[in-house]
Amino acid sequence: MKKTVETDIAIIGGGIAGLWLLNRLRQLGYSAILLETKALGAGQTNKSQGIIHGGMKYALQGGVTSATQAIYDMPRMWNDCLHGQGVIDLSNAVILSSHQYLWSTGSLASKIAGFFAGMALKGNLEELTQSAYPEIFKNPHFKGQVYSLEEMVVDVHSVIFQLVKPNQDVIFKIDPLLDHQLKFDNNGKLIALEIQAEPIEPLHIKAQKYIFTAGAGNENLLKPLQSHGIAMQRRPLHMVLVQPEFNHRLFAHCLGLSSTPRVTITSHQTADKKPVWYIGGQIAEEGVKRDSKEQIQFARKELSELFPWLDFSESKFATFFVDRAEPLQPDGSRPDSSYAKEVENVITAWPTKLALAPKLAEEIVEKLQQSKIKPHATDLRLLRAWPIPALAKPIWDELL
Ligand SMILES: Cc1cc2nc3c(=O)[nH]c(=O)nc-3n(C[C@H](O)[C@H](O)[C@H](O)COP(=O)(O)OP(=O)(O)OC[C@H]3O[C@@H](n4cnc5c(N)ncnc54)[C@H](O)[C@@H]3O)c2cc1C
Repeated sequence: MKKTVETDIAIIGGGIAGLWLLNRLRQLGYSAILLETKALGAGQTNKSQGIIHGGMKYALQGGVTSATQAIYDMPRMWNDCLHGQGVIDLSNAVILSSHQYLWSTGSLASKIAGFFAGMALKGNLEELTQSAYPEIFKNPHFKGQVYSLEEMVVDVHSVIFQLVKPNQDVIFKIDPLLDHQLKFDNNGKLIALEIQAEPIEPLHIKAQKYIFTAGAGNENLLKPLQSHGIAMQRRPLHMVLVQPEFNHRLFAHCLGLSSTPRVTITSHQTADKKPVWYIGGQIAEEGVKRDSKEQIQFARKELSELFPWLDFSESKFATFFVDRAEPLQPDGSRPDSSYAKEVENVITAWPTKLALAPKLAEEIVEKLQQSKIKPHATDLRLLRAWPIPALAKPIWDELL
């Protein structure tokens, strides 16, 4: 008979979704533990650009539905947390930029101005006069138009650090869970997780609720469950990292003809203080059909077209593939909002956006309250010997 630890809630997966939720549940008095197989933030979270979307993407794609309305509240919610006045205190996390720029190239400038004139997000968008342009666009070769958009960018690594800090006593590293380690009763209800971290003796974790926030790892966790229609989709990206020779920090979307920005650039710093441009957008979506060498060639061409006055010839480039893991949509498109579905005592969840993690956590809290899960005093002493997962390194520190 394995030794057993009982807890109210067992969260599986330590990305933004699991860590945000862990903080909320403990605030509410639940005994909650979080289990992670690699490093905290090691999935999509530390590859995210850290943009707290406020609906620009949705507006560009033409549809503001009641579901997409949810994302409009996220900048305020994050802003409150980042200023120590929200549901979670993130006042020591770093805001990289309080806003983003939107820019259009010369040939598209007038078209885009007309388009914005009638848009729902107009209130968050300000057309800038040349004197207010960021330095990088003050060059005489720049022929487009620049807008400022109220959409902040956070340093994701610092956010993860702040979410982990008060919870190190309840976060544990485990070996990957295999099918037979999910224990079911005769009715197909999950009754325990058998966790292992060689060389420690395996333990059973029994919880009132098990919450899967394992990102792409949810797919495997769902296999042994009768998942009642819960399925995952992957939307791949081929992201680009550039270490330029110059030090222009830029947080901006370049608008092209497609509904996805031609490039979305955020600026970061390596551990040895070198500047990094991190590039997503259409280049990353369409780049999945290119190998790394082709993607770098394409990125060089895009950057020299968009910034002909800058020299990238000596810049270091790297690329990597990553999947966005989300609930399956009938047409494979981007889901509108966060997702949490409960079957028996398991909740499977994907935030679908880093920005939506706070909303996802509140949805899960509501489900726990609806199913009358009450906090109990529990004894976690058997877990004291278990390893604590490290914080994942930012992706540029791994690849550049
Ligand atoms: C390139 C890229 C850029 C993005 N940029 C943005 C952005 O700017 N703004 C935004 O709002 N959103 C962005 N997103 C989306 C956002 O990053 C994700 O929606 C969010 O990070 C998902 O968080 P998560 O916690 O669900 O999953 P993840 O971050 O993937 O975390 C899952 C965790 O579970 C662990 N795990 C997996 N299997 C198991 C298991 N069996 N047992 C225990 N642990 C397990 C993994 O190691 C990982 O740590 C971006 C996504 C990508 C890929």
